[in-house]
Amino acid sequence: MLTGSPQLVRNVFSATVSQSRFTHARLFSTPSARMKQRLVILGSGWGGYEVLRGVDKKRWDVTVISPTSHFAFTPFLAGCAVGTLEFRCAMEPVRKYGREITAYQAWCDSIDFGKRQLTCTTTAPSDTPVPPTSQSDSAITKPSSFTVKYDKLVISVGAYSQTFGIPGVKEHAVFLKGVSDARVIRSRIIECFEQASQPTLTDIQRRKLLNFCIVGGGPTGVEFAAELHDLLRTEIPTHYPALSKLARITLYDVAPHILGSFDENLVKYAEGRFAREGITLRNQHHVEKVEKGSMIVKEQGKVDFGLLVWSTGLAPNPFIESLDGVMKDPKTQSVLTDEHLNILNEDGSPNPSVWAIGDAAVIKGNVLPATAQVAGQKARYVTKKLNKIIRDKPSPSEFVFRNMGSLAYLGNWRAIYDRSQATDSGPKRSESGRIAWLLWRSAYITMTLSWRNKILVPFYWFMNWAFGRDLSRF
Ligand SMILES: Cc1cc2nc3c(=O)[nH]c(=O)nc-3n(C[C@H](O)[C@H](O)[C@H](O)COP(=O)(O)OP(=O)(O)OC[C@H]3O[C@@H](n4cnc5c(N)ncnc54)[C@H](O)[C@@H]3O)c2cc1C
Repeated sequence: MLTGSPQLVRNVFSATVSQSRFTHARLFSTPSARMKQRLVILGSGWGGYEVLRGVDKKRWDVTVISPTSHFAFTPFLAGCAVGTLEFRCAMEPVRKYGREITAYQAWCDSIDFGKRQLTCTTTAPSDTPVPPTSQSDSAITKPSSFTVKYDKLVISVGAYSQTFGIPGVKEHAVFLKGVSDARVIRSRIIECFEQASQPTLTDIQRRKLLNFCIVGGGPTGVEFAAELHDLLRTEIPTHYPALSKLARITLYDVAPHILGSFDENLVKYAEGRFAREGITLRNQHHVEKVEKGSMIVKEQGKVDFGLLVWSTGLAPNPFIESLDGVMKDPKTQSVLTDEHLNILNEDGSPNPSVWAIGDAAVIKGNVLPATAQVAGQKARYVTKKLNKIIRDKPSPSEFVFRNMGSLAYLGNWRAIYDRSQATDSGPKRSESGRIAWLLWRSAYITMTLSWRNKILVPFYWFMNWAFGRDLSRF
């Protein structure tokens, strides 16, 4: 029997619930759920979310651990950042599967492969202090940490943005990796125009604020430049007529050309289009330092900007870097897997209970691009495997990547499509201009994951074409 003040009773009660939530994570599950094998998915991106969608949730006891509550449809982020699409169009909630799965909004910090146990730190702010636990209770190691056991594990934690250690990038540039980044960028663009409209500023100050710089000439940097250019060409002259002529877009890259992974003729087409549209390309330029509102470029000196978007490729996820006992790719520090996507132990043997997919993983001897296409195909392969395993059926043979081609939007209803370098037996093809743009739009509409977004996305494309983008800041 509980005695003492109501406050104490409440604390004891909440502590019991909090502990049991983690020590017996299946407390609220049905008895049959407790008998199921535990599948834990790390990450809710292109890899993790696809596994979550496809895996047999009736037969597996599924837990998803991800610091974000949603999946981000990354190809739409550039459009969201300038208002071509609304943020909702690029999101799918993890908890829409809430009845069938357990989801923790948390970071996974470490994996004990021997004990098949993960240690995680919650990202959801807690109003209830969790009391210290006894030595024997390992479920809550510190107030915001907990452990989760697995029978099978899928690691799909993605990668971080590369900065090459250039000082000031993390503090003064914006990355474009998630929906929250797109939100920051959209807000900052409007802020720059609002600040530049103040009557107290000189034209020189205005030009500085309206210099939009992008570092990184890969598909993400190029697509953001293109989307931003669409905004400057269409709505800005109406909303800020006195300022639109002062705005500039400059794209920096250390390489001699942008879009290095695309066919040479498509690169020429893209560079020609950017030149015609007034987007300045500064190839073979090296950013040495970034400060608040300016950066030092080796070939140019000090360059002032209102917004700097940084997109120079991928850096390893620190969680993956910290993993012990597994083989890693010496160049990217990604986890190495075999052709069945099982991670490789230090001695080179595969771990049959753990798969790694997406940007955090590389197949030994078969490096594929870090794209949503690869992550999605690997996820579907692992899902198929898991659904066979749980039915005691023979699992599929090794993973084979099918190259569907690469697409990049170039602005003003034009794009490029490249399948010229595919090594499989399918048709080699490349397209540029409006046909490629139609391919771009239809491919991504097809790839959107929910009916809600299959309706929302064309709706916003149409609304914004018909009535213009909404430039309100909130
Ligand atoms: C702006 C942009 C546009 C892109 N456009 C395209 C495109 O058009 N076509 C294409 O093929 N590819 C595109 N890509 C690349 C594509 O998005 C990635 O290759 C893909 O997201 C990789 O999937 P993933 O599951 O490995 O990682 P992600 O999708 O990045 O997901 C990683 C997940 O893991 C979570 N996570 C991170 N650390 C931890 C941890 N310690 N514990 C638990 N969870 C963790 C993250 O919160 C996230 O939910 C684009 C990327 C960007 C940024």
